[in-house]
Amino acid sequence: MEKVDIVVMGCGPAGIQAAIHASKRCSVYVFGDPEKSNLWNAHIDNYLSVEYPVLGRDLLLNGISMAKDIGVKFFYEDIMSIIPENGGFRVKSENMEVSCYAVILASGIKHEKLNVPGEKEFLGKGVSYCADCDCMFFKGKKVLIVGGGSAAARAADMMLNFASQLYLAYPSFSVSDSVIEQLKEKGCNVIGAQVTEIKGSNKVEEVLLSDGQRLDVDGVFIELGSRGIYEIAMELGIMLDDKQMKFVQTDTEQKTNIKGIYAAGDVTGFPFQLAKAVGQGCIAGIMAADYVKSNFT
Ligand SMILES: Cc1cc2nc3c(=O)[nH]c(=O)nc-3n(C[C@H](O)[C@H](O)[C@H](O)COP(=O)(O)OP(=O)(O)OC[C@H]3O[C@@H](n4cnc5c(N)ncnc54)[C@H](O)[C@@H]3O)c2cc1C
Repeated sequence: MEKVDIVVMGCGPAGIQAAIHASKRCSVYVFGDPEKSNLWNAHIDNYLSVEYPVLGRDLLLNGISMAKDIGVKFFYEDIMSIIPENGGFRVKSENMEVSCYAVILASGIKHEKLNVPGEKEFLGKGVSYCADCDCMFFKGKKVLIVGGGSAAARAADMMLNFASQLYLAYPSFSVSDSVIEQLKEKGCNVIGAQVTEIKGSNKVEEVLLSDGQRLDVDGVFIELGSRGIYEIAMELGIMLDDKQMKFVQTDTEQKTNIKGIYAAGDVTGFPFQLAKAVGQGCIAGIMAADYVKSNFT
C-alpha cells in the first residue's frame, strides 16, 4: 500500500488550494475529477483581481499545474472509503489504496436537479443552480426561480434587485406564509405549480408549467437545495450541521470533530463561492500540515 502524509478528497478550488499550501511541508495526493468541480463550467465575475470573463476551468487547470510543479500528485478518481487505522487513515479510491496521517474533505456539493426536458440542454444558457453566482447576468431580465424552500426564497429575495420581472414557482412552499407574503409585496409573482419543460432556441426563452401556463423568461434558477457528504461523514462519525445534516461542521482551523480530518469549500455549507473555497482550502492545508508535522514526522 502506498503511503503519503495528506490525502485531499476533491479536485476543485478548495482541494487544490489546500494541496498547494500543505505540500510546502508534506507529501500530498489529491483525488477527484476537475471536470466534476462546480467551477468547471462557471464564468467567474466576482473573484478578486480576476476580470470577467474568466472560465472556471482555466482557474482549475492553472491551479493543478501549479500544484504539480511543487510535487502534489493527482488521481482523477473518486474516493470510496476512509477507514481510521493506526492513528491515521486508510483511503480506498476506485483503483488504489493509500495510507495517510490526515485527510482534507473538499468534495463540494451536488445541486439537486429538477429533471425536466431542457434543464441539461440550457445549463449555462439561461439555466443556473447558483443565484449568488449568476444574478448579475440577469439584470433587467425576466427570471423564474424554481423551488419551495429557504434556498429558493433567499434566491428570489436577492433576484428582486436584478430582474425586471420575477417568478417563484413550485407545487408547495415549505417556507412560512409571511416569507411568501413579503416576496409578493416586493413584486415577486408566486405560482403554486411545477415547471414541466424549459424551452428555447440557443438560450432559455420559455417555461411550461403543470397548470398549463407558459412564462416568457430569460433565466431559470433551480434552487432545490443540494446534497453534501452524508455517507462518508456517517461512517467516520463526522459532525454535520444540525439543521439539514448535509454540511461538515468545522472550527476556525477547518478541523472537524475527528482528529486528522479537515474540511473546506462547499462541503462546509453556505456560501457556495470560489473565494470561500480557496480561503478555507488555504487554512485546511496549513493546519493539516501542522498536525502531521507535530504528531507524526
Ligand atoms: C454554474 C456555476 C457558476 C458559478 N459561478 C460562480 C462565480 O461566479 N463565483 C463564485 O465565487 N462561485 C461560483 N460558483 C460556485 C463555485 O464553483 C463553488 O463554490 C466552488 O467550485 C466550490 O469549490 P469546492 O472545491 O468546494 O467544490 P467543487 O469545485 O465542486 O469540487 C468538488 C470536487 O470534489 C470531487 N469529489 C466529489 N466526490 C468525491 C469523492 N468521493 N472522491 C474524490 N473526489 C470527489 C469532484 O470530482 C470535484 O473535483 C458557481 C457554481 C456553478 C455551478
